[in-house]
Amino acid sequence: MTRALTIGFDADDTLWQNERFFRMTEARFAELLGDYADPDHLTERLLDAEKRNLGKYGFGIKGFTLSMIETAIEVTGGRVPAATIQNILDAGREMLDHPVEPLPHAREALERLVGRHRLVLITKGDLFDQERKLAASGLGDWFDAVEIVSDKSRTTYERVFAAHGDGPEHAMMIGNSLKSDVIPAIEAGSWGVFVPHDLTWSHEHAEAPEDAPRFREIAHLGELEELLAEII
Ligand SMILES: [Mg+2]
Repeated sequence: MTRALTIGFDADDTLWQNERFFRMTEARFAELLGDYADPDHLTERLLDAEKRNLGKYGFGIKGFTLSMIETAIEVTGGRVPAATIQNILDAGREMLDHPVEPLPHAREALERLVGRHRLVLITKGDLFDQERKLAASGLGDWFDAVEIVSDKSRTTYERVFAAHGDGPEHAMMIGNSLKSDVIPAIEAGSWGVFVPHDLTWSHEHAEAPEDAPRFREIAHLGELEELLAEII
């Protein structure tokens, strides 16, 4: 009999597509401001604005929209037309309605683990948007708990895994961000399982902690059951 773990799942780009909607909107933004800046420069300025604003706005679409507006004002030297700002707002609002489609293997992986381990969804971003996506994904019923957090740090995992289980040492975090999902969970004493996604926001990139004994990488969630059988 295997010992039950608390298993934390990231949501965006681990259970369902997310970054692709940001990239699509960025392309639309680049088109809107094509007369003022080339796309690469624009992407760079936008990323700078997003990073500057993270501490105030947090992660998510609303902060992203405000950062697009800020960048538009910047690159036009304050001359951005109101119609363009309206277009940016429309693009942001459409992102808040994007369809939610679970990634391959996500549903099956959760289905197999339910009842055997304690499953916790741990995600950051706008509260309303994360709640909407969870409801639309149809995956909500598989989770014992949902934690929508403002950031994912070592102390986040210490707190969440203490609240929903026997502490970080008896827990595992699974996600597509080395920086947010894997490294801080390992620092807290948990297993950190990296499931790469081909689109990951550059702010979430980090070196893989190859030497950490509790670091693992799988190609997709269909490999999770085998990994669990091997480590517990
Ligand atoms: Mg993610």
